[in-house]
Amino acid sequence: MKNSIQIREVGLRDGLQLSKTKLSSEIKIKWCSLQSKAGFKEIEVASFVPPSILPQFSDASKMVCETNKINNLIPSVLVPNLKGALIALKKNSKKINFVLSASEMHNQSNVNSTIEKSLSMFNDFVTERNTRGLKNKVQISAAVATSFGCSIQGKVEKKTVIKICEKLLEMGADELNIADTVGYANPYQVKEIFKSLYKISGHIPLAAHFHDTRGMGLANVISAIDEGVQRFDASLGGLGGCPYAPGASGNIATEDCVYMIESMGYNTGIDLKKLLKLRKSLKEWMKKDVLYGNLLTSGFAKTFNI
Ligand code: ZN
Repeated sequence: MKNSIQIREVGLRDGLQLSKTKLSSEIKIKWCSLQSKAGFKEIEVASFVPPSILPQFSDASKMVCETNKINNLIPSVLVPNLKGALIALKKNSKKINFVLSASEMHNQSNVNSTIEKSLSMFNDFVTERNTRGLKNKVQISAAVATSFGCSIQGKVEKKTVIKICEKLLEMGADELNIADTVGYANPYQVKEIFKSLYKISGHIPLAAHFHDTRGMGLANVISAIDEGVQRFDASLGGLGGCPYAPGASGNIATEDCVYMIESMGYNTGIDLKKLLKLRKSLKEWMKKDVLYGNLLTSGFAKTFNI
């Protein structure tokens, strides 16, 4: 058996952000609990943003409170600024993913701030957590969106991504999550970025977040694995479209990603049969939304060792 690879579910956050269905808190908690039982150790459960902007997450506090009760699970949340980060801290989030973009224009449009200001907020946030004595209790991950290109600005230079990551590491990020927010990455580019990042990241783990907007999501996962990445975000049923590409597919589908990684001989710790059962329920819960992923339709290959 090769190394283990951790797949983190982001369907409840990235996936629901633009969905046509507004799932009740009860269904979302059930989703979390079933996915945890299928072997997932980390699930992103909400985003701390004003409900006027994203009503899907108006129950963020409740989601954290309820999912914190699930054994052996780290429910994480996404925050776009210091204000959201401090609320997440107050609500006892175990892991807080602070997002900023490597594209100046995307950062402005997504979180309404310059990159410099976002970095300074990140620094203040880490300091605040440490001052409160929570350094070993609350993990802070930095998610660098549009690291491979931006649908507003276009090209995003690798050196810009590296420079931002260098600063985040200096400020005390517990993890860096390199995100292809708009599905621009290709496998060679992924290789290049992670090769450079591993030169500066030391013992801090790197994670990758790919969208399958242009069908390259899983190829990018393999590329990242080849460079040493062991943490990947994915979304059940490939939920999570792109606001700049209406109708486009979303995140890489969790079930397909797990299947591919297990087929290649890595251990994900995930029970695929349980996961597919949940995927079927998701289809029932989200009838208005288009779901992706091939595994549910095709089933396991006879050669696949389950
Ligand atoms: Zn995303």
